[in-house]
Amino acid sequence: MRKKIIIGNWKMNKTSKEVKEFFEEFNKKELKTRSNTLYGLAIPACNIPFAIDKRVNKKFIVAAQDISKHLSGAFTGEISILMLKDLGVSHVIIGHSERRIYHGETDQDVNTKAKIALEHGVIPIICVGETLEQYESKQSKKIVEKQIKDCVKDLDLSKIVIAYEPVWAIGTGKTATNEYAQVMCNHIRKLTSDDTLIQYGGSVTPETINDLLKQPDVDGALVGGASLKVDSFIKLIEK
Ligand code: PEP
Repeated sequence: MRKKIIIGNWKMNKTSKEVKEFFEEFNKKELKTRSNTLYGLAIPACNIPFAIDKRVNKKFIVAAQDISKHLSGAFTGEISILMLKDLGVSHVIIGHSERRIYHGETDQDVNTKAKIALEHGVIPIICVGETLEQYESKQSKKIVEKQIKDCVKDLDLSKIVIAYEPVWAIGTGKTATNEYAQVMCNHIRKLTSDDTLIQYGGSVTPETINDLLKQPDVDGALVGGASLKVDSFIKLIEK
């Protein structure tokens, strides 16, 4: 049986003090987490050491939000997989729609970065998803199919996570229906493998996650806004 994986994406939020406070509060709670479920947070790179230091449960995933296409060298502002691996990161989000929209990342960039992550034993969480315009013109399946084919080229499909995130649902409060999430995740399943973990992302909340996770091809969630507060994050990962 495939595991579930729930990852909070903090994007560019929280200072080191706020990260420490989050974990101090989180560590005090007695958790009844969902069975067979991995969980964790993707944290801005500069604050990863504080999260690693503060997490009590070593199985709590601390993920990065991006990596460079390069391993080292004259790439000002970039952060290499070697540096993140060294800090203790086990997963990295690649190709989030905000990276694609604001930083021009392409499917080829995503594929290169995912390969580098895997080569260094870090699991890439590869984001795909259609825009509102593509959704409204009923091109979602075609768009996502092209993204998947290009992004996962030559990757070990049993070692990656795909996050299906319709761009129109990210940070908008407009979540996809469970049926729609299932149809799209099933489409991705057919293009990948039975072993690939496929998350849905887009305005997931503690109120919507349970029914979402009942969908047979939805193996978890990538959650932005609802992962920022301790209580809300705990509700996402508790059964
Ligand atoms: C995300 O950041 O990937 C995301 C899905 O954000 P939100 O849950 O806020 O829509």
